[in-house]
Amino acid sequence: MSSTRGEPVLSLENVSVEFTKERLMGLAGSETVHAVSDVSLDIYENDVVALVGESGCGKTTLGKTAIGVQRPTRGTVSYRGQDIWETKEESSGWFNRGGSDGEYSETDIRKALQIIHQDPGSALNSNYVVESILSDPLKRWNPDMSEADRRERIYGFLEYVGMAPAEDYAERYPHQLSGGEQQRIALIRALLMNPDLILGDEAISALDVSLRVEMMDLLLELQDQFNTSYLFISHNLANAKYLTQRAGGRIGIMYLGELVEIGTPEQIIHNPQHPYTKVLLWATSDVHNRGEGVTTPPVRSLDIPEATDPPSGCRFHTRCPEARETCRNTKPALKDHDGDSRRTACFRGEDQHEYWQSTPLEEESTVPQQPAQSD
Ligand code: SF4
Repeated sequence: MSSTRGEPVLSLENVSVEFTKERLMGLAGSETVHAVSDVSLDIYENDVVALVGESGCGKTTLGKTAIGVQRPTRGTVSYRGQDIWETKEESSGWFNRGGSDGEYSETDIRKALQIIHQDPGSALNSNYVVESILSDPLKRWNPDMSEADRRERIYGFLEYVGMAPAEDYAERYPHQLSGGEQQRIALIRALLMNPDLILGDEAISALDVSLRVEMMDLLLELQDQFNTSYLFISHNLANAKYLTQRAGGRIGIMYLGELVEIGTPEQIIHNPQHPYTKVLLWATSDVHNRGEGVTTPPVRSLDIPEATDPPSGCRFHTRCPEARETCRNTKPALKDHDGDSRRTACFRGEDQHEYWQSTPLEEESTVPQQPAQSD
């Protein structure tokens, strides 16, 4: 299986997402959360992209923005070259023209971009049996489909994902299913729309470790069958590696709202270039050997800055062990430094950059502590 290129299915161009939140501790006023900052990313047909980063790095917000659930504050999100939010406005604006001028309607786009959540139990309606849960979207989006055809389609899917006999599973309520079975139902529900892209938001994190590989194998098998792309959100580099390596996909590393490195799993896991990618690898013992006696993470400071007040220049400069004065004031662009398709946002990839003449920043803390988790 390999990703094919051509025109992207989904394009994010200079996307930023900001929220306003009330100040805590009784302080008056509000502050801006810079959840996602200036991210550009293309996802192609039959592609797999895994976004990895610490909790709060903006990866879930970026995923939701990619599928049109979250509106970007700046930048554009396009489905097959058509602006998603312009399409939504044209479909539901005050002038209510009832449709978009583009090739794809809002309904086309909603069907094409699906999501499976971390907790399928809460995403599936507990009052309905499996057959009703799966019939509902088919009735809504394919009203001409006969009941017999709907049932045949649903039963076929249930058996395909190993939930046989289908008649038995079709009559069960979500609470009568295991976590893995619930996630399979969520996956079927997404696939029934013949989507071009499925956002998997920590989709396997709640499963037992033994079930994760099984679920990832199923995701990949179904991707091949249905020619679907995945945008996979994970805090776990090991899972991201497993999925992307088998699918010929890419891993994107996010830090404090920014995409700081993106490349193949071989590039990211075996030859990381961005200092933050090295921190994540350090914290992921099942894909990285820290070496004998290495107990401290490769960071200069353990304090993670707030998304309400991100550092100037390179956002990682307050923690980066390689940081120099230049990094305080100048923001590195995400770019290809080696001509190998990997893109990294770090001056160290540029031989002639003023960074190399700049003064190294002092170490701020040496207290050993796990900076980022990976289970
Ligand atoms: S630009 Fe500077 S602070 Fe940022 S990752 Fe590179 S070396 Fe570290």
